[in-house]
Amino acid sequence: MSLFTGNRESARSGPKEFTTATPELALESQGSITSFPLPVRLVGGVQVFCDPEYFPEVPPSEPGFVAAFGGHQKKVEKFCPQQEVNLERLLSFSLASPLGEIGLDFTTSRDSWNLQCEVFQRLLTLCNARRPLILHIQESTRSTGVYDQAMEYMRQFCAPSQKIHLHCFTGTCSDVKNWSTFPSCYFRLTGLVGQFNAAQHEALRAVPINRLLLESDSPHLNPLDPSLTNTPLFFGDVATLVANVRLDHVHQMVEQFKC
Ligand SMILES: [Zn+2]
Repeated sequence: MSLFTGNRESARSGPKEFTTATPELALESQGSITSFPLPVRLVGGVQVFCDPEYFPEVPPSEPGFVAAFGGHQKKVEKFCPQQEVNLERLLSFSLASPLGEIGLDFTTSRDSWNLQCEVFQRLLTLCNARRPLILHIQESTRSTGVYDQAMEYMRQFCAPSQKIHLHCFTGTCSDVKNWSTFPSCYFRLTGLVGQFNAAQHEALRAVPINRLLLESDSPHLNPLDPSLTNTPLFFGDVATLVANVRLDHVHQMVEQFKC
C-alpha cells in the first residue's frame, strides 16, 4: 500500500482528489514540472485529522483509507478541553484508529513549547497496544534534543511494543539508534530529504530498510518544488531522493513498498 498523509486541507476534501487524479492532469496543473516517470496507482492511505477545528462528526469511511485523529502542535493553543473530549470520542469508534499527528514542534515560538509538552503528555495517555501512533517531531536551530525529549515522554507513557510512525523524520544517527529501541518504530521520509544536511543524510543511511517508509505529506512538501501542491503522484520523486542518499536502487526501493 502506498502510504501518505492527507492532512488538514486534504482531510477536509477527502481522498477523492487523489484517487481521481491522473499523472497527466497533475503534470498539466504543475506547469513545466516533470515528475519521475513511475506509474502511481493509489490504493489507500492515511487521512490525518489533527486540526480540532475540522474534526468530522464521525470517522469517514473510504475503502482503503484509514482515518487518524490527533492534535497538531502548531494548533496547541486552540486545543481546549472540549476538543480533547471530541478527540477521545472519535478514537473510541475503533481501538485500532491511529492517534496522530501529535508531538513536539520547536520550529514555533518558544512561548508555546511548555504547553506543547503538557498537551503531548496528556495525549500520549490515549495510546493503546493496537493504536499506531503518528508522531510529528521537529527541531530548529534554537532547540536541539527535541527527539530526546519526546523519547523521554514516550518511555513514561507508552509500552516498548508501541507501534510508532515518526512522520517526516529529520533526525540524526543518534535519533535513529534511540528510536530503534522501540521494535515497532518506523521512520517516514518525505520530499524534505531534498533539503537534508550531511548529518541527516548519514541518519537516513542508518535507517534499516525494513524500518523505512515513504510518505507524501500532501498537500505539503512537494519533492520537486516546495511552492507547488504535493500529491501521492510524486512518490517516485520522493523515492528517488531517498534512494540517491542511501545509494539504493530506486526501483528495488519502490518494489519493497508494494504489497
Ligand atoms: Zn506533521
